[in-house]
Amino acid sequence: MAIEQTLSIIKPDAVGQNQIGNIIEYFERDGLSVVAAKMLHLTQEQAVKFYEIHQQRPFFKDLVTFMTSGPVLVMVLEGEDAIAKNRKIMGATDPAKAEKGTIRGDFATSIDQNAVHGSDSKETAKVEIAFFFKPFEITKRVQ
Ligand code: ADP
Ligand code: MG
Repeated sequence: MAIEQTLSIIKPDAVGQNQIGNIIEYFERDGLSVVAAKMLHLTQEQAVKFYEIHQQRPFFKDLVTFMTSGPVLVMVLEGEDAIAKNRKIMGATDPAKAEKGTIRGDFATSIDQNAVHGSDSKETAKVEIAFFFKPFEITKRVQ
C-alpha cells in the first residue's frame, strides 16, 4: 500500500442538508486528510465534462441536472490506500445497498442523490484531481 490522493465531492443533496462537517468526519476518522478543498456551483458544461464517461447512460441528464442543482464541496483526500479506502467509506452507489456506517448508508436518500462522489481508480483519481485543482492548490500536510 502507498500514500495516494483521490478526488471527493460532497454532492448538492448533502451540502443542502448541512452535512459537510459530518461527512468530512467519516474521512478523517478513517485516516484520510483533506489536502485541498473548494466550494463550487458546477455549470452545466463542467458537469457534462466531469461525467462524460456516463454520457450514454439513461440517467445522464438527471445526473447533470442534480449535480448543477446546488453547491458542492470538491476535495482532494490523501492517505494510505486513499482511493480504495474512500470508496469503502462512501459505501455502495445505491444507498439501499450501502451498509450502515458508510456515508451513503447514513446520508444518501436515493441512487441519484447519493451524497458523495469518489474516484474509482488511480487513473481516474489523477484525471479528476486535475479537472478541479492546479498543483499549487494542493497542499502538503506537515505530519
Ligand atoms: P459511483 O458514484 O458509485 O462511482 P457510478 O460511477 O456508477 O457510481 O455513477 C455515477 C453517479 O451516477 C452515481 O453516483 C449516481 O449519482 C448516478 N447513478 C448511477 N447509477 C444510477 C442509476 N441507475 N440511476 C440514477 N442515477 C445513477
Ligand atoms: Mg463512479
